[in-house]
Amino acid sequence: MKMLFDSSRYKLRTRILISTLSVVLLSALVIGASVLWNYSQLTRHDLESRVAIEAKIISGNVAASVLFNDNATALEILSTFSADPAVLKAELQTLDNEVFAEYTSEKLSQEMNNAFVLQTDILFENNSLGTLSLTVSRKELKDQNISIIIFLTIVLLAVVFIAFLLSTPLIKSVLNPLLNLHKTSQEIAQTRNYSLRAQVKSTDEVGRLSEMFNRMVEQIEHRDDMLEKQVGQRTNELEKLAEEFRFRAFHDSLTGLPNRALLNERFEHSVDHTVGCKNRFACLLLDLDDFKAINDTKGHEFGDELLIEVASRLKTTIRAEDFVCRIGGDEFIILLNDLVELHDVDMVAKKILAQLNRAFVIKGEQVRTAVSIGGAVFPDHGCDSSAIKRHADVAMYRAKDAGKNQFCLFSEGMQDDVKYRMMILSDMRPALDSGQFEVYVQPKMNPFEQDIVGCEALIRWNHPKEGFLTPNKFIPYAEEIGLISEIDYFVIRDCCKKISEWNMIFTQPIPIACNLSGRHFHDFKIVDVLQNALTEFRVNPSQLEVEITEAVLIEDPKKAQKIVHAIKSLGIGVSLDDFGTGYSSLNYLRTLPIDTVKLDRSFVSNIDTNVQDKRLTRGIVSLAKGLNLKLVAEGVETEVQMQTLMELGCHTMQGYYFLPPVPAAEFLHWYLKNHALRIALQKNY
Ligand code: C2E
Ligand code: CA
Ligand code: CA
Repeated sequence: MKMLFDSSRYKLRTRILISTLSVVLLSALVIGASVLWNYSQLTRHDLESRVAIEAKIISGNVAASVLFNDNATALEILSTFSADPAVLKAELQTLDNEVFAEYTSEKLSQEMNNAFVLQTDILFENNSLGTLSLTVSRKELKDQNISIIIFLTIVLLAVVFIAFLLSTPLIKSVLNPLLNLHKTSQEIAQTRNYSLRAQVKSTDEVGRLSEMFNRMVEQIEHRDDMLEKQVGQRTNELEKLAEEFRFRAFHDSLTGLPNRALLNERFEHSVDHTVGCKNRFACLLLDLDDFKAINDTKGHEFGDELLIEVASRLKTTIRAEDFVCRIGGDEFIILLNDLVELHDVDMVAKKILAQLNRAFVIKGEQVRTAVSIGGAVFPDHGCDSSAIKRHADVAMYRAKDAGKNQFCLFSEGMQDDVKYRMMILSDMRPALDSGQFEVYVQPKMNPFEQDIVGCEALIRWNHPKEGFLTPNKFIPYAEEIGLISEIDYFVIRDCCKKISEWNMIFTQPIPIACNLSGRHFHDFKIVDVLQNALTEFRVNPSQLEVEITEAVLIEDPKKAQKIVHAIKSLGIGVSLDDFGTGYSSLNYLRTLPIDTVKLDRSFVSNIDTNVQDKRLTRGIVSLAKGLNLKLVAEGVETEVQMQTLMELGCHTMQGYYFLPPVPAAEFLHWYLKNHALRIALQKNY
């Protein structure tokens, strides 16, 4: 109900129309009602007075008839009432209430219900002779009222119609500008087109309202334009930022290569694609060799530039359908998609090795680097991305262990190596602390004199589970985690201790040589360690030697030279180990303060059969003599080898032929048995 009469539901036009017409209608009704009331009063009064006059006249006329008891005349007179249709009945009654004469209209019975009675005395000379009763019909009044009502209704309808006709243009003139305003505002709200304006057709309040509205829209349009520009700018900036974030999220900030996140995505894609087309793809894990050393010696900026150069060479080496990314530090991953043959992996890996082995020019300086590459092929070496990555990692470590700067493709057997590697890495530190390492010694002999020239200290690990481990089983891992420095410090102190003990037992001094890792040649700590050990065990520096390989010079030759000089200036002898296996040994011989050169075992093992080796050895022997260096031939296993070396002029040898590396106690036993007695005899005779 409430809703039905809720005027706000109707349009403004309808509301104005309804209210205008209602007012007109109401006014017309009130006027009509009062006209009707007055008119009915008037007609009623007219009827009553007319009938009263008629009654008066008739009563006067009929008085004589009553007086003379002339019934017929009375009746005749009464019948004149037939001229007045309102009189239904006229009755003459005498004073004793007897009906003297009576007139009855035909309509009496019909209109009796709507009639009134009028009585008049019949007078004669002021004496009442009886009463004249008139029954008067009101039908006449009713008919007149109906006519006037019909008339009034027509007038009322005409008034309302005229009011309606007049109000329409009025409403139009007031309402149309408002409606136009409303329409414009609605359009603006819907289309957000602030260039639209309301029509201003008049100067009245509505016109001014439209003007104000237009001004307001103009301001909004202006603000909207500015806002749009600002929003546009912001959106642009945000889009750029989002793009940058997306790039950063999936790319390495240094090299611009994809990162691990994108790799994971691409890896899954390669797996799906390969499964779909029943093809293969390979994952190559690349780890730069000794990159840490470059970083440490040349600085991080230099290292970063090298990584950028490496990345750009990798990008140019692979095909468009392949994928290269940097997964952190000096590690890169390459996915070789759509492989046809397994040996294609080998070919690409070799191409990469060749590319990265070419010298780089960083900050105007030439630098060389190498890379160890491990490869695994999907689905041959694993059925998901994590297995492939793991196995490429295993293969990469195999490449490192096998001497770096090479490629290794995963094979099932490598799995055990991984377990072994994990075990060794975790056991090494506790082993060093709990004394599982032991220093073995191997003598260096002068076969001409059958005398001991010195010993080499060689580390061994008595592993509680793995048993006796030779250095090749753990030294590469110790190098990897940096524990090699502490192992060497342990060996140095152990050697000094042995020298000092042996000096008390042996009549001749037996120098001991310790092997030093290349890691010591970044700073001077090793010099302090050697000095402290000499002091602690009161050892004459001439009894201690160090064996270094030319690898110590690769990273920072100038610094390494200084450190070797510092060691040498302590009075300690310096040997160049594994001589003949490197590239520029001859140059080092001139720049380093070396006393001894140790000819690598590889020359010795075939010396009696390989003419080339024999010729080279002869050359090295004469070179050493020319440079006034001592020469030790390593790995002498047979008498023939010994004889051949002796013939070539080599005076010091080391090898299983004399004695393999043994614990100190065993060496002592061997020495006393074979040499002490001989020396004693020599002294006696
Ligand atoms: P290296 O310095 O060249 O040591 C000589 C290696 O040749 C020793 O291997 C020794 O046992 C072995 N050898 C000696 N005579 C013969 C022979 O007649 N025939 C054969 N086939 N081999 C012979 P080892 O003890 O296994 O040590 C291997 C390498 O581990 C060493 O090579 C050295 O580079 C490194 N190493 C050993 N001990 C230490 C250490 O205390 N510190 C460091 N940094 N490296 C060490
Ligand atoms: Ca050595
Ligand atoms: Ca050697």
